This record gives sequence, C-alpha cells and structure tokens, in this order.
Amino acid sequence: MTAPINLLDLTPAEALGRLDDYMTATGEPAYRAAQVVRELWEKPAADFAEMTALPLSLRSALADRFAIPRLETIARQLSTDGTEKFLFRLPDGQEIETVAIPESGRLTLCISSQAGCALQCAFCATGRMGFQRNLAAWEIAAQVREMALLDPPTRVTNVVFMGMGEPMMNWSAVDRALTILNSPEGLGIGARHITVSTVGVLPGIIALGARPEQFRLAISIHAPSDELRRELMPVNVKYPLADVLAQAKLFDRRVTFEYVMLGGVNDAPEHASQLAALARSCRAFVNLIPLHEGGALEFTGTPPQRISSFARALREAGVEVALRKSRGRDIAAACGQLRVERLGRGVPRRPDQHSEVNVA
Ligand code: SAH
Repeated sequence: MTAPINLLDLTPAEALGRLDDYMTATGEPAYRAAQVVRELWEKPAADFAEMTALPLSLRSALADRFAIPRLETIARQLSTDGTEKFLFRLPDGQEIETVAIPESGRLTLCISSQAGCALQCAFCATGRMGFQRNLAAWEIAAQVREMALLDPPTRVTNVVFMGMGEPMMNWSAVDRALTILNSPEGLGIGARHITVSTVGVLPGIIALGARPEQFRLAISIHAPSDELRRELMPVNVKYPLADVLAQAKLFDRRVTFEYVMLGGVNDAPEHASQLAALARSCRAFVNLIPLHEGGALEFTGTPPQRISSFARALREAGVEVALRKSRGRDIAAACGQLRVERLGRGVPRRPDQHSEVNVA
C-alpha cells in the first residue's frame, strides 16, 4: 500500500486536483472533491470521519488514501492580557510555539517557521536552543488551522511570521504556506494581513517581493551600523546592512523595520539619527520593540522614558514610528522568549491567580 497523501501539504488547488483524480478513478461524483477541499481549511474537519456531508463509505475510503494530520496541542497558557500561547508537538516529536494575540477586534497569530533557529541573535531565546529542523508547509499553515478547530473556534485575522525560526531560511515551505494562508479556498487571510519577518536573508526578500500578492515584509534591523549589528546578529556578516537595505528599497511595498531596544547598547541619540537615515532611505516604518528580558540575561531593556525619546527623535527626523506593546509577558509568550522555560533559563514561573494555565 502506498503512503497516504497529506492533503494539508498541498496547496488547495493541488489538493483539488488530486481529489478530482481520485473521484474520477473511483466513480464518485466530481463535486465531492471540492466538498473535501472546503473541509481542509475553510471549515476544517478534525478528520475524515467528521466530514459528515460525505457518505460513510467514502469517508473511510478517503482515510485510507489521504491524510489530514493534526498538530498535537500539549499545552495552552492564557495571559492576563488575553494573549494565549500554544505548544504544539509535531509528528516527529519536535515542539513549536504559536501565540494568539487579540487586539481591538483582530486576532493576530504569531507563527513558527522552524523548530529552533540557526541564527544566534544575541538577545533571542530561540537561537539558544539551536536549529532542529525546518517545518513543512502544512506544519506552518496548520498552526492557523488548529485555531479553527478549537472549541469554540477562533478566527485568525492576521498572521505574523515572528514565532520560532527564520522564515527566509525555509522559503520553499513558507512560500507554499503563504499560498495556503491567503488563497480563498485555503484560510482566506488577506495578503496585507500576513507579515513575514526576516533578519534580512536576501534571496528570501527577493522571492517574497516576486510574489504578486501584497504580503508584508518586516526586517529585523536592531542596529544602525554593521559594527554593532554584527555583534548582535551574526547573520550580518553574510548579509550586511547595506545589502539588506538595497534589497528593501527594491521591495515594491512599504517595509517595516523592527528594532529591539537594548539598554545602553543601541538606544543612544546617535543610534536614533543613524536609524532615521536608514529608514528614510527605504521609506520604512519603524517598530520599536521593548526587550523581553527572558530572551537574554546579559541585556536589559531600555527604560520606557528613553524609548519614548528615541521614538520622538525618529519622528522629528521624519520617520513613522510605532511602539510595540509588550504582550503575554506573564506567560513568556513575547517575541524571542518562546520555549524559554522549557530550556530552564531564568527563574521558574510561579502560577499566580492572574495567569491561568491549562494543560491540554
Ligand atoms: N527570524 C525572524 C522572525 C522571528 S523573531 C526575525 O528575526 O525577524 C521576531 C522578532 O522578535 C524579531 O524582530 C526578533 O529580533 C525579535 N526578538 C527576538 N528576541 C527578542 C527579545 N528577547 N525581545 C524582543 N524582541 C525579540
């Protein structure tokens, strides 16, 4: 017997093609194929048995030939601010985290693209666990699918590739996952509501820019000079700032710069003026991120007042700036903190009356 075909690792159009062939070969009515595709992503069924619009015999025949795998939820933690963190186990035992962030009618899902990360940014916890493996396209998209399978289901409106891993180092899977996330027969999330965040891996930026959809690009800048950036982000040796910025200029949509505020490291007035010049040269929008200290014990965050004056300096230099709010701090769900507790770093957290911990 041949291994079942994983329908979730195909784009919806490819899945439709495979199912069409199957229905034709087995003498089933052609409309059955589209019926199954609808229940992969749009109105996801947990398994074939749940596809109750199909005759029982077809459901079990499909289950022999095809697969629609789940991500196993091993833990769920809810923050006082409504942010919720999910720990998923993949079929080979790898574990990844996904964070759901509700805000004024939107629900942003922060998803992982790799188990671990090879990049070793100095302030990021994921880098410390090393690189385990790339996620398959379905494992990326299924993080969103699992939200629709919750009871009650959660509708994701925005997706950011800001969980574990570097999406541009796993481009072929991310490319396919973007199609699944965006296509109307897939998860149907508008391209402008999907942001890919990268340290500046050039081939990935070029590939994202070549896609016709309006997917958004965020670049983790974090330092306005090569000298400092090399210290914080070893990848700067391979992809220096000038090259990353030149590529950002060619990107045909507005780019966001991410800049994590590291006390006494990258938060001086001269950094603000250097950063402003870089941002103006690419018409970039700057997102200032407070450091989440779980990521790196040797750094301290810039104090809030100093962050505000840094932001003001950028604004006065003609740059659009946003201060990112820190979310999910009490459950270590913030950027760069994912899997921190499981690595045994920092002080173990005591559950308190404000933070509810549900282990699924
Ligand atoms: N590898 C990609 C996407 C994952 S990280 C990238 O680096 O862009 C998403 C964002 O969180 C990046 O901007 C990253 O630099 C930032 N980040 C990492 N560790 C952090 C920390 N401890 N505090 C705040 N932001 C952090």
